[in-house]
Amino acid sequence: MKKETDSVHVTQPHLPPLEEFQGYLEKIWESKILTNKGPYHQQLEEELCKYLGVKYISLFANGTLALITALQELKITGEVITTPYSFVATTHSLWWYNIKPVFVDIDPETCNLDPEKIESAISPKTSAILPVHVYGNPCNVERIKEIADIYGLKVVYDACHTFGVTINGEPVLNFGDLSVMSFHATKAFNTFEGGAIISHDEVTKKRIDNLKNFGFAGETKVVAPGINGKMNEIQAAMGLLQLKYIDSVIEKRKQIVRKYRRLLKNINGLSYLEDFPGVKHCYSYFPIFIDKEEFGMSRDALYEKLKQHNIHGRRYFYPLISQFPSYRGLDSALPGKSPVSERITEEVICLPAYPDLEDKQLELIVEIINKA
Ligand SMILES: *Cc1c(COP(=O)(O)O)cnc(C)c1O
Repeated sequence: MKKETDSVHVTQPHLPPLEEFQGYLEKIWESKILTNKGPYHQQLEEELCKYLGVKYISLFANGTLALITALQELKITGEVITTPYSFVATTHSLWWYNIKPVFVDIDPETCNLDPEKIESAISPKTSAILPVHVYGNPCNVERIKEIADIYGLKVVYDACHTFGVTINGEPVLNFGDLSVMSFHATKAFNTFEGGAIISHDEVTKKRIDNLKNFGFAGETKVVAPGINGKMNEIQAAMGLLQLKYIDSVIEKRKQIVRKYRRLLKNINGLSYLEDFPGVKHCYSYFPIFIDKEEFGMSRDALYEKLKQHNIHGRRYFYPLISQFPSYRGLDSALPGKSPVSERITEEVICLPAYPDLEDKQLELIVEIINKA
């Protein structure tokens, strides 16, 4: 097989100049403070609050520990309404508390939890809604709030795909009781691994900070069976450095997504999501959707075709979370229960989209799709 390019993957982490990182490392070596709320950790919390337009942030070692801790903080139990169209960590977080996920279908226009389908899934055991801003595109936060308020439910947003996303100027992270972020290497903003919980008052932030530190609320006082979820100083230093470049990273992502949209317009059977009105996006993914009949080739055939050219898109999200063995047997996981998700999971490919993707690589990807 002729390879026109080196391997191109769905994403490639943005790395700041190594020399700049060395300066941070030297400071860490001098201070010998490696973790436990060190100076870089403190500084990153302050700078992220400013950048993101949020009041309180608690940094974590990764997004999964942040999700698990968010549920612990809100004392979520029983049943939680969530989406099958996400990364498995969303629902896995519920497993740690023996919480039953109740899968509700998505809206085909946004790929996010369909608010109009939430009410019919509420039972006496429902304690919360766990929606995901899929691909960084905001959920219908107003409608979800209305429903949560009527039924007295908590809302925890899985905001692992969003960074700096706003709706009419309002940070999307300010909706819900808590929002959870991930700074994993594959996300738009990375600290190698990392995560965070956004909260809206000081008391809650303090409790979350205790929970991520084994539940310590003082030298000898342990108030809850907390976990070790702390972000270390090397991760925090990386975050501070990444933050210097994030605006240009998001701008480059935007240009790439715009170029894809321009070049992939008017292909029968291929669709993609447009910008949402009033929303400032972070362009963390570029999913396309293949209608087999109209496109004349299945999603999987196109996926394989790209792979033959060393282009590695990813089928985010395929399979659905509800299709994994861990969730088999749940009523809401049965085939036919989430028809929109079940269709879209067979249609989606996320194309390579990251700041260093070269024009000629992007054009080659488009050419392969066009030929197909
Ligand atoms: C990445 C991701 C997570 C998990 O975050 P980690 O930092 O990798 O633990 C959870 N939910 C979604 C939707 C994600 O994309």
